[in-house]
Formats: sequence, C-alpha cells, structure tokens
Amino acid sequence: MALDKPHWRELFSEVVTSGLCTGCAACVVACPHDVLDYDSDGGVYRPWHVDAEGGREDCTHGERGCTMCTRACPRFRNWESEIDVHRFARERTDEEVWGVGDVVLARALDPAVAGAGQDGGLVSALLIYALESDLIDAALVSGVDDATWRAVPRVARTRADVLASAGSRYTYSANLLAYHDAVEGGAERLALVGMGCMASAPGAMQVRKAGKVARRLGLTIGLLCSKTFDDTIFEDLFESRYGLARAEIVKMNIKGVIQLWTRDGSYHEVPLKEAQPFTREGCTMCPDFAAEHADIATGGIGAFGDWTLAIVRTDQGRAILDAMVRDGVVETRPADDDPGAVALLHKLAGVSRRRWPADAVPGPRRLPLARK
Ligand SMILES: Cc1cc2nc3c(=O)[nH]c(=O)nc-3n(C[C@H](O)[C@H](O)[C@H](O)COP(=O)(O)OP(=O)(O)OC[C@H]3O[C@@H](n4cnc5c(N)ncnc54)[C@H](O)[C@@H]3O)c2cc1C
Ligand code: SF4
Ligand code: SF4
Repeated sequence: MALDKPHWRELFSEVVTSGLCTGCAACVVACPHDVLDYDSDGGVYRPWHVDAEGGREDCTHGERGCTMCTRACPRFRNWESEIDVHRFARERTDEEVWGVGDVVLARALDPAVAGAGQDGGLVSALLIYALESDLIDAALVSGVDDATWRAVPRVARTRADVLASAGSRYTYSANLLAYHDAVEGGAERLALVGMGCMASAPGAMQVRKAGKVARRLGLTIGLLCSKTFDDTIFEDLFESRYGLARAEIVKMNIKGVIQLWTRDGSYHEVPLKEAQPFTREGCTMCPDFAAEHADIATGGIGAFGDWTLAIVRTDQGRAILDAMVRDGVVETRPADDDPGAVALLHKLAGVSRRRWPADAVPGPRRLPLARK
C-alpha cells in the first residue's frame, strides 16, 4: 500500500462518501479503538465514526498513526490487484473476467443439507465439514429473524446452526459483524460466508497486515452476487403491491423473476424489473459479481437447480473440496456439463465490472477488448 498512513479521514472521503463503500463492515470489525459503528437501518448500511473521537470525518487515533480501517477495507485504493497478488501470487489477466480459479458443479449428498441449501447445499456442507473436521471453530454467516424475515449476521458453531442459516436472503447482511461474538465465544479459526464485497475483506486484511482479525479469518466462502435490495422492498413492494407480508415469507430465490414461498405453502412471482428501484446504494458501483477473492465462490446459475456452481480459487479451497468428495460429503460434476452456466458467469461478471467508476483506480474496469 503506497503511503502516508491513511486512516479514517481518507477512508471517509475516498470510500464511504464517494459511493465505493459496500457496507461490508470490515473497517468496523478491524478498528482496535472501537470508534467505528455501523448503521443498518433505513437502507443505509454504512460505517460511521463516533463523534467524540474526531468527529464524523476524522479520527484522533488515526491522527496518531492508527491505519487499521484502511488496511481492512476491500475497496480502498488499489485493493483488487493487492489482494490478487496476495491470494494468487499474480494479478489476474484481462481475460479472467470472473477471476482466478476453476469451475465445477457440486452438491451435498446428505439430503438434510441439500434440502436446506439454496442450490446444492455446498456452502452448508462445507461449513459442517470444516466444523466437524476441526478446521474451523465457527463460521460468520447470515441468519434470519423468524418474526421479520430480516437477514442478520450470526455465528454458526454447530451443524444445527449451519442448517438454520442455510438458504439465501437478498437483503444485506454484513456477516463480518458477527466476528466479535464469535471471538468472545472462544473461536480463533473462523470461516466467513459472504458476497464478493465481504469475501475480499480477509484478503485485504491479510495483505495489509491488519493483525489478529486477519489471522482469524482463515477460510472464505463467497456468494455470487449482482445486487442486494433495501429492506424496504418487503413492505413497499412485496406487501403493498402483492399482499405478501414479510413475516409470512419462508424462502426467496431469483431465477429471472423473484420467487417467493410463504408459510401457507404457496408460491409467488414478482417481476425482477419491479425490484430494480430497491437496489441497495452500496451495490451500484460494485464490480465483483464472482466473489473474486474467496477460497471457493458459489452460485446458483445454470441448468441444474439443485447443484451449486463453485469456483475453486485457492489451494485451500481445492484441498477442502477434494477431501469432501473423498469422504462422501459432496459429489461434483464438470462445468462442461453446463456450458451455458459458465457463459452466463462470464457475462454477469463483465456487467458488474463495468460498474466500477472510471475515475477510481482502473483495475476492476479492465476487460478484454473484444468483450467491451
Ligand atoms: C444477496 C445474494 C445474492 C446472490 N446473487 C446471486 C446471483 O446473482 N447469481 C448466483 O448464481 N448466485 C447468487 N447468490 C448465491 C446463491 O443464492 C447461493 O447462496 C449459492 O449458490 C450457494 O448455494 P448453496 O445451496 O451452496 O448455499 P447454502 O448451503 O444455502 O448456504 C448459503 C449461505 O449463504 C448465507 N447467506 C444467505 N443470505 C445471505 C445474505 N443476504 N448475506 C450474506 N450471507 C447470506 C447463509 O448464511 C449460508 O451460510 C446470491 C446470494 C446472496 C445471499
Ligand atoms: S467498503 Fe467496507 S471496509 Fe470499506 S469503508 Fe465501506 S464498510 Fe468500511
Ligand atoms: S453487488 Fe453484491 S457483492 Fe457487490 S456490494 Fe452489493 S451485495 Fe456486495
């Protein structure tokens, strides 16, 4: 990282208020002085600085040399190439639109895990395997508040915790915010589940040496993602236009349309274009569809609805997936079985990369000439 000890003052102007901030909460979790807080109400999803220690825009600890928040932020300055080099020992080429790695399709063999999962249950199978093989002590995931169906950061320590948090919510859950609960509960080796914005945080922290937080976040499972919605979508679209109360929703998916299942067993569809106005502000400049810095990134695109598309990016990701196959926990099939899925991955990754603003560092906008 070039520099001059950048701290909250630089993070505030270059990321938080410039539109690049995704609300991932890495800065909040990494701050050793506890002067950053997080606003998740009213569709904000932003960090803020407590007034007593430097005001909204500055930080007295930063003035004295603390740089931890900028070390943690996966959107600060030259984040993409710094993390690429750290994770893959090289920058990715322009042709690697969805990043470095190999694509495979996978699904959980335990019917309870496959049934709970959004797609093939790979993420849940991975977490259960890592917990039960003593590779991790806990995972930072997204739970759901039963009464309101609001996505909330949670710690998963057991198979039951993992299954209770399986499936996808399409509103934002800054899973990193479960970090302190996990550590207070005695966990030292953590897995993080999160969309690309969060999945780049451990790499950012590791390459910029953000201390214990960086060391503890040892395994990263990414979720492919082109956007999340503001929480208001429940009341202002699903309820007001379709009469679907939030507390009645039990499952949601997006496959060309928004699919909703309710407690009474019925199924509903909402056209995706009606949801566009509810796109969360933090997603509008995000260039990362493919969770480019995860050990394994996972998605649900493709012809096979009960399989998870997995991009295996690191040696650690490869070793865990191989061990799971060997131990009969998951089965895999080649990506060649579904060429349409890989083509769609390429296309959607390219669309997201074009969102990165032209006046920010150029890395994430790089695309092969033929596909511009
Ligand atoms: C907001 C969002 C957008 C997505 N967009 C796409 C997309 O456009 N294309 C695509 O192919 N795939 C997308 N996915 C990924 C897809 O929905 C599945 O999560 C993925 O295929 C893994 O499926 P699985 O059955 O293996 O996971 P599961 O075993 O069901 O595990 C899913 C994990 O995701 C966590 N999770 C759920 N909701 C959230 C949330 N809101 N924030 C953080 N963590 C969460 C859960 O806690 C759980 O650990 C998206 C996921 C999310 C959460
Ligand atoms: S992108 Fe994440 S780490 Fe960076 S300022 Fe926003 S919340 Fe903090
Ligand atoms: S599009 Fe997805 S990965 Fe990007 S900021 Fe939004 S939630 Fe995060």
